Amino acid sequence: MQAIIDEIAQKMAASPDKGKVASYIPQLARVDPNQFAISVALPNGETYSAGCAQTSFSIQSISKVFTLTLALGKLGEHIWTRVGREPSGDPFNSIVQLEHEHGKPRNPFINAGAIAIADTIIQSSQSEEALAEIVQFMRFLADDDSIAIDYKVARSEVETGNRNASLAYFMASFGHFNNPVDAVLRTYFHHCSIAMTTQQLAKAGLFLANDGINPATGYAIVTPQRAKRINALMLTCGHYDGSGEFAFRVGLPGKSGVGGGILAIAPGKASIAVWSPGLDVIGNSKLGTEALELFANKTGWSVFGS
Ligand code: GLU
Repeated sequence: MQAIIDEIAQKMAASPDKGKVASYIPQLARVDPNQFAISVALPNGETYSAGCAQTSFSIQSISKVFTLTLALGKLGEHIWTRVGREPSGDPFNSIVQLEHEHGKPRNPFINAGAIAIADTIIQSSQSEEALAEIVQFMRFLADDDSIAIDYKVARSEVETGNRNASLAYFMASFGHFNNPVDAVLRTYFHHCSIAMTTQQLAKAGLFLANDGINPATGYAIVTPQRAKRINALMLTCGHYDGSGEFAFRVGLPGKSGVGGGILAIAPGKASIAVWSPGLDVIGNSKLGTEALELFANKTGWSVFGS
């Protein structure tokens, strides 16, 4: 495993085209694109890393996997009255489908869907409590109390978040929200701004590769059926309108973030986190996808066969 990921990290370092860092969140535009990290966490407790796996980055939309998990724990199947389970085929921040579909987002991983999920996590309008719960959940999963929100990134998102605010107010106009729009947006922007290393992220995702059980602690985070379903949503919706391409090239459930991270799950085998800040035109990590494609080819771990 170490030889495989060392070779991948070397190849990525030599790649001439590293993509473009996200610029619509000014704080993300400042990140050096010449960084790459990969970590692989196995159910037996071993973790392998290459590149700058100790550098924290903004997990952005990867946080949506964990807020979905929390919301499922709170509301169970009822959450499917708030969001759908179909790929959108549209960009991550698209508003067009919302009007046709009466304010119910297609899935929990597009921005509108994740904003709706944030609403379900908040109780008594307190975004602080919801955020504390989300951060605590990440710390518990990764077994690492140093995980925290990057408040500079959060402020940057709040200041430039007009599109997300539009999505939220539009959904609220259908009467779907339980909480004030401000509190929902605040929760959403801040959970996207959680900073983690690939090593922490790979560990946090391991329950999804292990039938819902965190092997480090033995705790059942979700049932095996729920883990399977979260993986299915990651495969079909985890890369926005690039989800089909990611399935075609990598063949693993995965969730990307505009910070350049991707969490990929090889069910029964491993949780893999990669990070490279440069994005492709759709907004998914360019080298992160290339690295995972190489990884899936070398290990034969694609869910579609080797
Ligand atoms: N916080 C980002 C946004 O709302 C998340 C997008 C992403 O990571 O894909 O635009």
